Amino acid sequence: MNTPFSRPVHAETAQGVSKAAPSRHKRAVTDSLAPARELLRHVFGHAEFRGLQADVIAEILAGRSAMAVLPTGGGKSLCYQIPAMLRPGLGLVVSPLIALMADQVEGLKQSGVAAERLDSNHSLDERADVWLRAEQGELDLLYLSPEGLMQGATLERLRRIPLAIAAIDEAHCVSQWGHDFRPEYRMLGRLADVFPDVPRLAVTATADARTRDDIRAELKLTDCAEFVDSFARPELALAAERKRGQGHGRVEELVLARPGRSGVVYTGSRDGTDKLAERLAAVGVPALAYHAGLERNLRTERLEKFLEADAAVMVATIAFGMGVDKPDVRFVIHADPPASIEAYWQEIGRAGRDGLPAEGITLYGAADMAWAMRRNAGRDVSDEVRQIQNRKLRQLYAMLDGVGCRAAAVRRYFGEEGVQPCGVCDLCLAPPESVDATVAAQKALAAVHRLGGRFGRGRLIDHLLGKTKDVHESEAALSTYGVGQELSAVAWRDLIDQLLFDGLLKENPNDGRPLIGLGDPDGVKGVYRGERRIAVRKQPDVAPRAAQGGRKRRSAEEMTVEPANATLFEALRAWRRDQAHEQHVPPYVIFADRTLYDIARLRPRNASELLLANGVGDSKAQRYGEAVLKIVREN
Ligand code: ADP
Ligand code: ZN
Repeated sequence: MNTPFSRPVHAETAQGVSKAAPSRHKRAVTDSLAPARELLRHVFGHAEFRGLQADVIAEILAGRSAMAVLPTGGGKSLCYQIPAMLRPGLGLVVSPLIALMADQVEGLKQSGVAAERLDSNHSLDERADVWLRAEQGELDLLYLSPEGLMQGATLERLRRIPLAIAAIDEAHCVSQWGHDFRPEYRMLGRLADVFPDVPRLAVTATADARTRDDIRAELKLTDCAEFVDSFARPELALAAERKRGQGHGRVEELVLARPGRSGVVYTGSRDGTDKLAERLAAVGVPALAYHAGLERNLRTERLEKFLEADAAVMVATIAFGMGVDKPDVRFVIHADPPASIEAYWQEIGRAGRDGLPAEGITLYGAADMAWAMRRNAGRDVSDEVRQIQNRKLRQLYAMLDGVGCRAAAVRRYFGEEGVQPCGVCDLCLAPPESVDATVAAQKALAAVHRLGGRFGRGRLIDHLLGKTKDVHESEAALSTYGVGQELSAVAWRDLIDQLLFDGLLKENPNDGRPLIGLGDPDGVKGVYRGERRIAVRKQPDVAPRAAQGGRKRRSAEEMTVEPANATLFEALRAWRRDQAHEQHVPPYVIFADRTLYDIARLRPRNASELLLANGVGDSKAQRYGEAVLKIVREN
């Protein structure tokens, strides 16, 4: 269902560079970008555009709409902020979450940009003031929720104001193929009719090809250029391991091994969230619980606490998520697996937004997959949607339980070609050795067949081992009884899990004690005939441990400030904490960690040297320069 675009400026390559355009065109683009580059340097304090930013900005500056899929932390916001500032008129930004808008607007104000948001929680006076400034042409950017924007009165007022751009952030919310469908986003298709002459830009970090097509169709962007950057996140080290039945014990271990770092731990249930947060707090981890069942004020309070903390662990359901732009989250742990690879990428993507090394660790089990399949079965959706959701689920587990590079698997899933192994995931660092288990798999499948799918996993293993308690004559007489003595019970458990992940076996619900039946008939036949080989990992729990050591070393190297600069870095951090406290904003709104690292390394002696640090623009240099230079002199 690929839609032909009128102008194929489709900028997609694995390296994240746009396809070579004719050089004359390229030069024209570069020249027209000079003012944009000025803003980039002076307002935002960045030396160069990153990835596809320049291409997207050039497209909007030329007055054309576009869609951009850039990785988390890739700098999507600049793609609409800069055109909003350069083109005449007001820039509209639609964003799904108030918290997200508040942060962005605060950050923009700190950089000297005239930005505001319209929030239904604000007083009438405040709103009137924002409108007045918008109407008088004083604002560069106005952030709104989709509901807020699409109200008749709002649209009427906006129609009388010249607009520079209408940007739609987190655009995957418009598609039901995506993982975060929001019905109110559907209304945004009307923007094309209401503001036919205003360039529109849809941006998102997660969308496979099908979701992208859907977004473009829904938002009436079918004729526009689509910019898809590489999904690579080289700073993110991924890992996954099967749950080993220790409940939250393993999560506790993982969190304790990462002291003094901020992290997010996702759990599948509200109850699990509360329990795990308590458990972590009991062992001294600054952990907070967050889920939709908590009172609104409490949620806001905890969110703020987390955002403002130097090191805190948020234990949360997926209610905690979109728009959590804390840049220094060093790890995301899934205590329970996510719902799809899109969701995985989005959730894991909250780690390492500042570009410094971070980790994403997922715990998963066959029971999680079976539960998710059942949940899909119970959903009130069309068969087509259900089948797609089931397929997405299988793709997720194939990646989690696979043996090849995880980052590469995810990038292929999003349609990237020619992807190289990442070199930092658990499977790259310690490739699992696999052994052929086809014969054992044949035995397991045959046993399930003979037993007629009437038993759960434990009984099935007893049967294979010939250890069934008080075995009935008819069962002992089966040819599969006791044929599996070459493997231990643990090894059988692993193999059965794998057959479940592969779809060769399936779990059928039975009051919480699932029965195991045969899965995909063609696949099963293939295994019986020996046409499909089954490989299992040897010593499955060795890989993640070995990998951890490697990752730690790597991040330790890149994260520590050289000893000579450590005191200065800590002094800058303390100063930032005080500033943030005074102004009631998260510390990263003042300066990102990365900026502090840069300052500590550069040791600027004057304002122009300070401007060399990444993230220091004119406004911040003016505002904080004196204080920062003093700290540098004194440390
Ligand atoms: P996302 O794409 O996830 O929305 P943001 O727009 O929030 O990302 O940007 C992520 C971080 O990258 C921010 O701290 C931003 O200041 C920084 N950034 C954006 N563009 C550049 C650039 N060209 N060079 C350096 N840093 C950049
Ligand atoms: Zn890898």
